[in-house]
Amino acid sequence: MIYRTDYHIHTNYSDGKGWPEDYIKAAIEKGLSEIGFSDHLTLTDEQQDWSIKLSRLGEYIDRINKLRETVTGIKVRLGLEVDYFPDKEEQIYQTISGLPLDYVIGSVHYMGEGTVDLGPEYYEGKDIDRLFELYFNLIAQAASSGLFDFMAHPDLVRIFRYFPSVNAEPMYRFLAGELSKSDVAFEVNTNGMNKPLKDFYPDRRYLHVFMEEGVPVCVNSDAHNPSRLGQYFDDAYTLIINAGFTEMVTFRKRERISVPLNS
Ligand SMILES: [Zn+2]
Ligand SMILES: [Zn+2]
Repeated sequence: MIYRTDYHIHTNYSDGKGWPEDYIKAAIEKGLSEIGFSDHLTLTDEQQDWSIKLSRLGEYIDRINKLRETVTGIKVRLGLEVDYFPDKEEQIYQTISGLPLDYVIGSVHYMGEGTVDLGPEYYEGKDIDRLFELYFNLIAQAASSGLFDFMAHPDLVRIFRYFPSVNAEPMYRFLAGELSKSDVAFEVNTNGMNKPLKDFYPDRRYLHVFMEEGVPVCVNSDAHNPSRLGQYFDDAYTLIINAGFTEMVTFRKRERISVPLNS
C-alpha cells in the first residue's frame, strides 16, 4: 500500500470550487493518508482573480490550521502555492514567514508579464526551444531562492502541446541538477491530463533523470474540485516506481520526511 498524499489543492479561497471541509470529506472517501491545501498566492501589484486575497490569508490559515488540529481519519496539512517573481523574493519572504505552514510550493506561471498557462496564443511566434530554456532557468532560480519546499508542474510550458524541436533531455538534466543542488523536491502533477497536453508534468520520459540527480518526489492532483483529488494517482505512482524512485516525500512544519513507496 502506498502512503497517498495530495498536497496541491485549490479551494474557494483562490480559484478552486469547494471549501476545505468538502475536500477533506472527498479525500477520506478516496483513502488518502494526507491532504494538503495550497491556494494560490500571487503577489502582483493588481489582485489576480485566481489568487487568495491578502485580506483573507489570515482566515485561510486559521481555518486550515484548525482542521489540521481537529480532523480525524486523515492528516491535514497547510500550504500555499506561491508564484515566483525574481524581483519579489523579499516580498514573498515577508508575506509567508511566520505563517504556520507545513510546506510552500513554488510555481512559475509568469514569464515577465505573460502567463504561460492561460491560452495557447502566448506561444504563437515564439522560439519554443528558447522558451523551455528560459522557463527551466526560472524554476531553477526559484528553487535556489530558499523560499520553497517543492516546485510545482516543472514543465508547465508543455500545457498547450508546444514542444522543443531538439532532444530535451539535457534541459531536464540541467533542471534536475539545479533542484538537487538547492535541495528542493518536485511534484508529478496529474492535472496536465485535464489540459490540452493530456499528460502529466513533468514529461514521463525524463522522470528517471530526476531520480538519477537525487531530486525528491511527491505526487499531486492540483485539484480545483473535490472530485479530482487523487486523480490518476495509480498511473503516477507506477511511473515514478518504474523510473527508479523508492521513496516519496511528505512535509510537516516545513520539515521534509521521506516515506517508502512500497510500504
Ligand atoms: Zn500552478
Ligand atoms: Zn495549482
